Amino acid sequence: ADALSTELPKPILQLVGIRKTFGAFTAVENIDLDVREGEFLTIVGPSGSGKTTLLRMLAGMDTPSEGNITLHGKLINDVPPNKRPTCLVFQSLALFPHKSVGENIAFPLKVKGVDAAARKARALELMRIVRLPESYFDKNVMKCSGGERQRVALARALAYDPEVLFFDEPLSAIDYKLKKTLEKELKDLHRETGKTFIYITHSLEEAMVMSDRIGVMRAGRLVQVGTPEEIYGAPVDRFVCEFVGEVNTLKVKRAADGSWQGVDVPGTFTLAPPRSGAVLDEAFVVVRPEFMRILGPGESADNRLGGVVYNEYSLGSRIQYQVRVGAKVMLVELSRGRALPASLDRQVTLGWDAADAFTLES
Ligand code: ATP
Repeated sequence: ADALSTELPKPILQLVGIRKTFGAFTAVENIDLDVREGEFLTIVGPSGSGKTTLLRMLAGMDTPSEGNITLHGKLINDVPPNKRPTCLVFQSLALFPHKSVGENIAFPLKVKGVDAAARKARALELMRIVRLPESYFDKNVMKCSGGERQRVALARALAYDPEVLFFDEPLSAIDYKLKKTLEKELKDLHRETGKTFIYITHSLEEAMVMSDRIGVMRAGRLVQVGTPEEIYGAPVDRFVCEFVGEVNTLKVKRAADGSWQGVDVPGTFTLAPPRSGAVLDEAFVVVRPEFMRILGPGESADNRLGGVVYNEYSLGSRIQYQVRVGAKVMLVELSRGRALPASLDRQVTLGWDAADAFTLES
């Protein structure tokens, strides 16, 4: 193989100009996306942004109104789910309630005509992979906990030996602690199986932990696709930025002398050039609370704002302060060790460096 082809895994699924309408309503539009073989790709977006609609087309449960979906270069727009080498791990786990864990997992093998002994051996192997104890083989699946059923569903999906596994919010109904464990396990499982995972969630936190790449959807469009680091460190707009976490946003305008002036708070600001390289007259400066500092005497920063602390919250390892700057409220997060003593009503100077903020066009 030539050097280039070894750089990126080749696309397994390609979406070109995908659009889906329901009557006059456009649920998904303009989607171009290459899913790379073996990657863990997560689609995130708020409720109603089109994630499920997109997934249904990828899984073959729906046909695009426009555009092409190809798998290994072959058009599959109209290929039904059971004729695709893909498998959906349902949100509402579609397990057989009256059957045992083992029977549930072995079901796809039974359909394929695999004999009983081989089915059992493979089911036990899959149970090991998803970390279900062997003793669960004969346990009724309804007597399993939510997290265990999740594993059964996963093992059953793997029994189909699909090339691509789709996950539609599989962890949404699971308590926080177990969810954190399952996220890490799913990531391990992805590595162990080497299969392509396409995962849907409205939780960016979940996406960040597990994914090789994240696609962010808004109102039917894929607004950014990138590694967790790119989504966090180089969001394309305020929507993506705010989706990642809390932010401080200031609107600024360019004055006649070329300087940036605050619109909602007075002041002259120093901005990093926007990543797009565009020449702007207006922009938004976005600073994450963890990059906003409270300046001590003699401490400098590219940008400064005076304010008054009027609230503080414990976030566990960090403390968040709400600081009133004119009519705006700015958020600052400090690690517990750097917390302000007696912060309320305290006059503070906020500061941040241009390189720690995003300059965004919209
Ligand atoms: P959630 O996180 O709430 O599941 P989502 O991002 O998965 O949301 P979709 O379920 O894809 O969003 O829905 C996108 C939009 O398309 C919504 O406004 C929804 O009401 C609409 N929609 C989805 N399916 C249909 C349908 N069969 N007929 C009409 N409208 C639909």
